[in-house]
Order: sequence, then structure tokens, then C-alpha cells
Amino acid sequence: MLQHDVVIIGGGLAGCRAALEIKRLTPTVDVAVVAKTHPIRSHSVAAQGGIAASLKNVDPKDSWEAHAFDTVKGSDYLADQDAVALLTQEAPDVIIDLEHMGVLFSRLEDGKIAQRAFGGHTHNRTCYAADKTGHAILHELVNNLRRNGVTIYTEWYVMQLILEDGEAKGILMYRIEDGKLEIIRSKVVMFATGGYGRVFNTTSNDYASTGDGLAMSAIAGVPLEDMEFVQFHPTGLYPVGVLISEAVRGEGAYLINSQGRRFMEDYAPSRMELAPRDITSRAITLEIRAGRGVHLDGSPGGPFVYLDLRHMGEEKIMSRVPFCWEEAHRLVGVDAIYEPMPVRPTAHYCMGGIPVNTQGRVRLSGDRLTEGFFAAGECACVSVHGANRLGSNSLLECVVYGRITGRNIASYVQDRKFSDFDAQAYLEGAKQRIESLLNKKGTIRLGALRQQFQDSMAEHCGVFRTEALMKEGLAQIEQFKAQYEQAYLDDQGSCWNTELIEAMELQSIMVVGEMILTSALNRKESRGAHSREDYTKRDDPNFLKHTLAYYSAAGIDVQYMPVVINMFEPKERKY
Ligand SMILES: Cc1cc2nc3c(=O)[nH]c(=O)nc-3n(C[C@H](O)[C@H](O)[C@H](O)COP(=O)(O)OP(=O)(O)OC[C@H]3O[C@@H](n4cnc5c(N)ncnc54)[C@H](O)[C@@H]3O)c2cc1C
Repeated sequence: MLQHDVVIIGGGLAGCRAALEIKRLTPTVDVAVVAKTHPIRSHSVAAQGGIAASLKNVDPKDSWEAHAFDTVKGSDYLADQDAVALLTQEAPDVIIDLEHMGVLFSRLEDGKIAQRAFGGHTHNRTCYAADKTGHAILHELVNNLRRNGVTIYTEWYVMQLILEDGEAKGILMYRIEDGKLEIIRSKVVMFATGGYGRVFNTTSNDYASTGDGLAMSAIAGVPLEDMEFVQFHPTGLYPVGVLISEAVRGEGAYLINSQGRRFMEDYAPSRMELAPRDITSRAITLEIRAGRGVHLDGSPGGPFVYLDLRHMGEEKIMSRVPFCWEEAHRLVGVDAIYEPMPVRPTAHYCMGGIPVNTQGRVRLSGDRLTEGFFAAGECACVSVHGANRLGSNSLLECVVYGRITGRNIASYVQDRKFSDFDAQAYLEGAKQRIESLLNKKGTIRLGALRQQFQDSMAEHCGVFRTEALMKEGLAQIEQFKAQYEQAYLDDQGSCWNTELIEAMELQSIMVVGEMILTSALNRKESRGAHSREDYTKRDDPNFLKHTLAYYSAAGIDVQYMPVVINMFEPKERKY
């Protein structure tokens, strides 16, 4: 059995930032980071548009309070305002800190860090490195990890969280290279496992964003918070779904329908293309439904709308958003200097997640905390995004709450001892799980089943939802679970068996999908990204509260938890 004081699952921005903070504060604490990908290949590396902070380099009228208000309004008043205050107060400092670590941000003429406009933000406060911001930050963080003596386990798939009586004691993992099983015993476990975009058929997320950390937590008995809130990003490139960053609209691009009209003036006249994502995604979906989408041959009635950059000119396009130009050119053959890009909404971000307090400690229920278990980043829900996240607030959450969580772990771990558990029993259980997957004798191909599941989630729990649709989706999940037992694997080996990993990831996807649908069915209102055609209004008297969904094989139990409101009283949300 391996042993480390602290084990962090996930080598993205949140995990790396936490590991670094622990090492900076207490270099003698033994910290390990485990990731199923190389840390540099975590989805954070793909982040494009930027990271928000009221540095006031472009807009001297900005303030943390203004940033907090925009965030809370963007969240449709479901964000916890104490958590938002911390996020926005610490933002300028984490940016300067990243800069000191070596991150190369884009600059203004006067040498200060440049800041651009972003959806839902009332001031220009998004710092960026062209449209490769995640790349710039993650590379520096990973370099700094090595310098600070963090042990890194690369390409180990974590299968199980060892949590007994509300206390985290370690994790169980599988080495993808050769199938070796190992347990890491630790005083603290931290999850920074990222999002779950792969629950849906069209997503901006990487292949590894399968919600493993969420599923492992739920199976271990931890509730998941606000899982009904799935962000669909307005501008996924059609048909592949990869992201065309909001930075493109931040720099001035237009959304136009088949009639050549900037249709956002019908939906958010004051903010136009820079309305928050939930509103813009609904607008695009409604335009397409009304027959004002476009076909690939340019005729009306098709499945996408246009994102038009042509008026921005070559110089601006190539200096500010070169990567987005390249994506459209490489993937769908569109030269955005001369032609508009075909776009439509794509599953992008997980507002909900593993519930944590503002210290990063995981909750076992509305009023009880776990011991030894922390989480941060996209997999966690400290609820700074509530029902809808603003662009460029997620990278910020990863570094602010990565740092805060690291700081708290550094002091928490001082008083903690390693706990005992029956390691042999866990290893035996994992061995049996793998053998039963490898020995499956069914007739259904796993890849086909995954595709059907993802199609079903997109159909039954997409941008717009109804009770009948979601009930049908849940009924289909029961069928998919039965079919999973009838699936088989082509590869029965132990060397780089990626099919086996995909089989385990599909289990995560299915747990997470069921949690999303069940939480969504129970929220009988429309708020932020959760938009119901049978309950079209926000209903504060009944639903200004966080969902806490508890998973068990017998069924999912949905409970609720109050929202922290201490700065801004809920108002109607208009743009
Ligand atoms: C294309 C794209 C562009 C984006 N652009 C922006 C932007 O401009 N601004 C912004 O604020 N946000 C942006 N976002 C969102 C933001 O990038 C993410 O929310 C954030 O990077 C998540 O970081 P993370 O550290 O939580 O997780 P990730 O970076 O997703 O890392 C997850 C880690 O967990 C590991 N892991 C997961 N499961 C397991 C397992 N079972 N075993 C072992 N390891 C595991 C993975 O290997 C990985 O290392 C973007 C997202 C996408 C998809």
C-alpha cells in the first residue's frame, strides 16, 4: 500500500493550484497528485477566453463588488454570496500571483495585463493569453509542481474513494499501462476531477470529462449539489461541438440568423451577443426551432446559426482569437476572415457538483461535514455560479478555491493521522469489478451503448426541459443500465486497455446522468440554465434553495439546502 499525507485527484488548474499552496506553506507535507491523463492534458489546458478579475487596468470603475454583483445576477440569485465575495475579492491577487509564477498574459500598450469584455460582466475584466489562456496557466502550474517536490502519478485511473463513516481514508487506483491496482492511504483526499461534458453527445469537453469524481463521491454516500444546472455554451462549432470561445463575441463578433439579422436584439437588447450564456443558448435554440437556422448550403431552416467575425478584420482576428480561427478552418473548412462560422449550443460546464463549504471541506449533508475530504474546481460546488456561470469565472474559481483549499488542507493535515481500513477487501472488490467487466459475455458494443446514452441525455435534458421528456429520459436510463450488463469488451488484456477505462467511465456517466435528470425533474421552475417549458417562471418562494441529491442503487433521494444571501436581494433578471 502506498502512503502520502495528502492525495489530490486531478492535475488541472484546481488540483495543481492546491498542491502548490500546500507545498508553499508546509514543504514537509508529502503531497501526491494522481491523474488519469498527463496533468498537462487536463481539460484546463483547453480553456480559451480568459480569467476574470477586477484589476481595473482597462476600466478604472470596476470593483470586486461589481464583479460579485454580476456573478450573483448571472447565477439567477442561486449562488452563495459569501463564496462569491471570496472569489471576487481574491481575484486580483491570484492573477498577480500567477503572473509572478511565470504566466504570460496578453498586454496593453502600457505593459499592464490586458482585459477584455465577456458575457454578463458589466466591465472589461477578463485577463487572457490570446485565446489560449488555460494553456498558459496550466503549463506554469505543472512546472511549479515539479519544482516543489509534488509526487505525480500520471495515467492512473482512480476507481474508488475510500470513505468510511464520513471519513476519507484514501483512494483505490488502476494503472492504465499494465492494469496494476494500488491503494494510496492518506490523511486527506482532495478531488479536483473536473466536469462531465461527456454525459452529452455534443460537448466542448475533452474525452476525459466523464464525471468520475462526482460518481465516486455519490457512490460513497456524499450528496451532489445542484446537478440540474448544466451549462450549454452558445457557440459550439457545428457539427463537431468544439468550443468557439466567448472571447470571439467579447472582441465584437455578431450572431446572425438565416435572415442575416442580429437576433439577440429580440432577447437581450442591452447586452446583445454578450448576454449570459443561458440566455444566448436559449435564443439560438429558439431561432433554430422557428426555422431561422441555416443549412450547410446556406438555405434557411437548418440546425445552426452564424457567428460572424468578418467585420472585425484579419489583423484583429489573428491577434486576439487566432486559435478559434484555426479551429474553424481545420475542423469545418471555414475561413472566418471571409465566411461566418456555423455554431449552435454545446454541453460545456457543470455548475453543480460535490458540495463544499468556503474552506473546500466536503459536506456529508446540509449540516454535517466529512472528515479528511476536500474538493475544488469544476467537480466541486461551493456555489459561486448558482444556476448559470459567467464566462471566465471558472478558471478564476479553480485558482481562488484551489488556493483556499490548499491553504486549509495545509493546516488541517497537521492534526490528522492515517486511518486504518481493510485494504485487502477494497483490492479484492476492485479486482472482481474489473474481472466482471473483462469477462462480459453480452452482445452489445460498449461504444454504441455510450452513444445511445449520450443521445438520450441530449434529447431529454437539453437546453429546454419538460416533465414528460425527463420522465422518458429516466425510463431510458433503466433500460441502459440493463443493457450495460449485456455489453462486451473486445479487449480482455491488461496492457493499455482503454476500452476497460471507457467501460468504467460509462458507469460514471450513467450515475451522473441519472443525478442530473432526477434533480432537474424535481426543480419545478425555470432558473438560469434550467429552463422548463412546463414551469416557465423562476419560483423563489418554493425553489430559492440548493438541491442535494443522494445516490443509492435503490434510487435517488432529493433534499434541499438554503442559499446564502447576504449582499444582494434577489430581483428579476433582465439584460
Ligand atoms: C474548451 C473549453 C474552454 C474553456 N474556456 C474557459 C475560459 O476561457 N475561461 C474559464 O473561466 N473557463 C473556461 N472553461 C472551463 C474551465 O476550463 C474548466 O472549468 C476548468 O479548467 C476545470 O478545471 P479543473 O481543475 O476543475 O479540472 P480539469 O482541468 O478538467 O482536470 C481534471 C483532472 O482530473 C483528472 N481525473 C478525472 N477523473 C479521474 C479519475 N477517475 N482518475 C484519475 N484522474 C482523474 C483528469 O485526468 C484531469 O487531470 C473552458 C472549458 C472548455 C471545455
